[in-house]
Amino acid sequence: MPIYEYFCPQCNLKFELLRPSSKLNEIPSCPRCHNGAKRMLSPFVSHSNHDEGAPTPTSGSFPCSTCSAINCASCKE
Ligand SMILES: [Zn+2]
Repeated sequence: MPIYEYFCPQCNLKFELLRPSSKLNEIPSCPRCHNGAKRMLSPFVSHSNHDEGAPTPTSGSFPCSTCSAINCASCKE
């Protein structure tokens, strides 16, 4: 039975757990705070690319074309 590493985002606790592959998709509870913990896929995985691909605002939703404000007093006609 393989050992997996889990991380609890509630109390920042890392712990290891023996899990059969049939229970891999079940969320284990943290031994300290009993909240749901996340499985760490690899300690070497970098999350530095997480902020890329942020949603860009749709330009069509702004009524004012000159200052991109939704309620712009100076651009109102
Ligand atoms: Zn916890």
